[in-house]
Amino acid sequence: MSTYPENNLAWQVLDHASKNGYAVGAFNCYTLECILGAIRAAEEKKSPCMIQVFPWSMHFHGREFIEYVSKACHSASVPIAFCLDHCIQESDVELALTMPFDCIMVDASSKDPEENIKYCKKIVDIARTRGITIEAEMGRIIGSEDGVPMVDMEQLFTEPDLANDFLKRTGCQYLAPSFGNIHGPYPEGGPEKYWQLDRLAEIRKAIPSNVQMVLHGMYPVLPDLLKKTIEAGTLKLNVNNSIRIPWQDFMAEKGSRLEMTAMAEQSVEIFKNGVGDFMDFLGSSGQSWK
Ligand SMILES: [Zn+2]
Repeated sequence: MSTYPENNLAWQVLDHASKNGYAVGAFNCYTLECILGAIRAAEEKKSPCMIQVFPWSMHFHGREFIEYVSKACHSASVPIAFCLDHCIQESDVELALTMPFDCIMVDASSKDPEENIKYCKKIVDIARTRGITIEAEMGRIIGSEDGVPMVDMEQLFTEPDLANDFLKRTGCQYLAPSFGNIHGPYPEGGPEKYWQLDRLAEIRKAIPSNVQMVLHGMYPVLPDLLKKTIEAGTLKLNVNNSIRIPWQDFMAEKGSRLEMTAMAEQSVEIFKNGVGDFMDFLGSSGQSWK
């Protein structure tokens, strides 16, 4: 029997990707239709993937829903890891550690660096006893749906040596680096102007080889740049807006004119198609080992 973290599904999904030369989509889901769409896409494409929810789901949908999603992911015909994205409140992290997630992203990047290290180490120690792996953010990936000014961004970037020190001391399995990426819309010039791929490659070189890097803030990003980001060593790509927005547009346009059953079915289809296309792009299609 393998030991932690080799026995953890999120770890296995990224380990397989790193050994077989492809990247993995981590799809942010807000409703049951999104979850079903992502699972069905993964099964049709025979692609490993990750499905993520925000802490909001733990509170709004509740424990039973989280347990259901975990079961649905784990009983799929392909490997699907279930993750919690951006867990900021300490009480949410504590709650999440009692739920069946494969991975929890602990976002303590607003703490000062030493405090962030101590805190993340403590969480990893608890998570290890429960078979859960941990993604951490270093530097700070800023932004919101309203956009943010780019001033003072430099000081929020991840420093390669500090990242290595952070990972060695905390034992986190995945790193979300800050290299000019932000959440929400980019100012003029877009990611092409702000992303420092050299820094990303330096971070990849500096950190332990068994730690995988995660891309946050990839909307809107041109496919060429995304490919370069993967080449620079990013393996887990968090996908939210680029699939969610067409799905929301569909519901805004058609929702009121369809029967509930038809709307549910068609919205699953829309989400599924978005996820499936992205799996083809990443090269994860056909990579299932289950
Ligand atoms: Zn994020």
